[in-house]
Amino acid sequence: MKKYAILGSTGSIGTQTLDIIRRNEDMEVVALSAGSNITLLEAQAREFQPEFVAVSEEARAADLRQRLADTGIRVLSGMEGLCQVATHPEADVTVTAIVGMIGIKPTLEAIRAGKDIALANKETLVCAGHLVMPLAEKMGVRILPVDSEHSAISQCLRGNNEKELHQILLTASGGPFLGRTAEELANVTAEQAIAHPNWSMGRKISVDSSTLVNKGLEVIEAMWLFNVSREQIHVLIHPQSMIHSMVQYRDGSIIAQLGPADMRLPIQYAISYEKRLENPGEYIDLTRLSGLTFLEPDYDTFRGIPLADEAIRAGGSMPAVFNLANEWAVEKYLQGEIPFPDIYRIIEACMSKHTVIPSPDEDIILQLEQDFDSWLEKDWVRG
Ligand code: NAD
Ligand code: MG
Repeated sequence: MKKYAILGSTGSIGTQTLDIIRRNEDMEVVALSAGSNITLLEAQAREFQPEFVAVSEEARAADLRQRLADTGIRVLSGMEGLCQVATHPEADVTVTAIVGMIGIKPTLEAIRAGKDIALANKETLVCAGHLVMPLAEKMGVRILPVDSEHSAISQCLRGNNEKELHQILLTASGGPFLGRTAEELANVTAEQAIAHPNWSMGRKISVDSSTLVNKGLEVIEAMWLFNVSREQIHVLIHPQSMIHSMVQYRDGSIIAQLGPADMRLPIQYAISYEKRLENPGEYIDLTRLSGLTFLEPDYDTFRGIPLADEAIRAGGSMPAVFNLANEWAVEKYLQGEIPFPDIYRIIEACMSKHTVIPSPDEDIILQLEQDFDSWLEKDWVRG
C-alpha cells in the first residue's frame, strides 16, 4: 500500500491526483489540504477518509470541523496545518499540487521528514531549487516531476547515460495566442487567455501558458531537476501538444515521449514511482494525427522566456522576483485591471529594481514575498 499526502487537493492537479488514487486499490490518502473550497474538501475527506485535513484560514477550518464532526477526521489550519499534512508520519509521497510560493515551506518540511515529492508546484524549484535539490539528495528522497514536460524528459532519460546527453528539447504548445503580433495582443481578454487549445488547467497557469512565462518557469525547473545548463535546453513550439518533450543524445538520436494531453498520465507516472499503470483515458491513434510540427518561439512578442533567461543569468533571488512579479501581474490581468502586455512590463520593472541576494535561504525567500506587497504601490509597477 502506497500512502499519499496532498497539498492543494481541490485544484486541477489535486482532483486529478485523487482520480488516479480512486482507480488504484493499492493507493491510499492519509492527509489533504486546500485553500478555500471546503465543500469539495469535505466531500474528498468523506470519500478518502484521511486522518486529517488542513485549510488555509482558521475561520474556514472551524466551519469544516463542524461539518466533519461525525467523521473523526481532524481539521487543521494555517501554515502549521499545511506542514503537518506535508509531513504526515505515514505518507510515502507528498504531492505538491498547491499553487504559489506558499508551497515552498511545506515541501522543504516534507523533504526533511524523508518524504518523496511528487512535484507539481512550480514555485518550489523556481524560487528555491538551490535549497530543494541538495536537501533532497542529502535526505535520499526522490523529486518525481508531475509536469508533463519534465515527466517526458525523465522518461526519455530513463535507461540512458546522462553523460551522453546533447540537449533537452522542451516543447511548448504556444498557447491560445500563437502567431499573434504584439499589436494584436494589446487587447486580448483573460477569457481568451485561459481558453487553452489543448490542456485543461488552473487559471493562473493557463495565462502563464499564453505569455510563455510558464515555459520560462519550466526551463528553470528543468535546469534543477536534470542538472543541465541553460545552453542544454532548447524550447520548441509544438502546437499539437502530442510530444511532451524530447531528449537529444550526442550521436544525434532523439528520444521523444508522446501521449494524450491528459495530466493524469504524468501524475500517475510520478505517484506510482515511474511504473506504468493502466491508461485512465484514450489511447492515441497515430493514423488520425494530421501532423507534428515544430517552430522557434517568437521571443520578441512573447517575452516569457527571455525574461526568465534574465532571471537565470542574475541568479540568487532573481528567479523568485520573476515569479512573484508574474504572479501579481497575472492576478491583476485576471481581474481585468491591466492589459496583457503589462504582464511583461511589470515583470521587467520589478526585476530591474531588485538587487540580487545570492543563495537566499528559506526565510529570505518568504520575506521577499512579504516585502513585495509594498513594491506594488510604486509608480514603476503601476505604469
Ligand atoms: P489550481 O488553482 O487549480 O489549484 C491550486 C490548489 O492549491 C487548490 O487546491 C487550492 O485550494 C490550493 N491553495 C491555493 N492557495 C492556498 C493556500 N493559501 N493554502 C492552502 N492551499 C491553497 O492550480 P493547478 O492548476 O492545480 O496548479 C497547481 C500547481 O501545479 C501550480 O504550481 C501549477 O503551476 C502546477 N502545474 C499545474 C499543471 C496543470 O495542468 N494544472 C501542470 C503543471 C504544473
Ligand atoms: Mg507543463
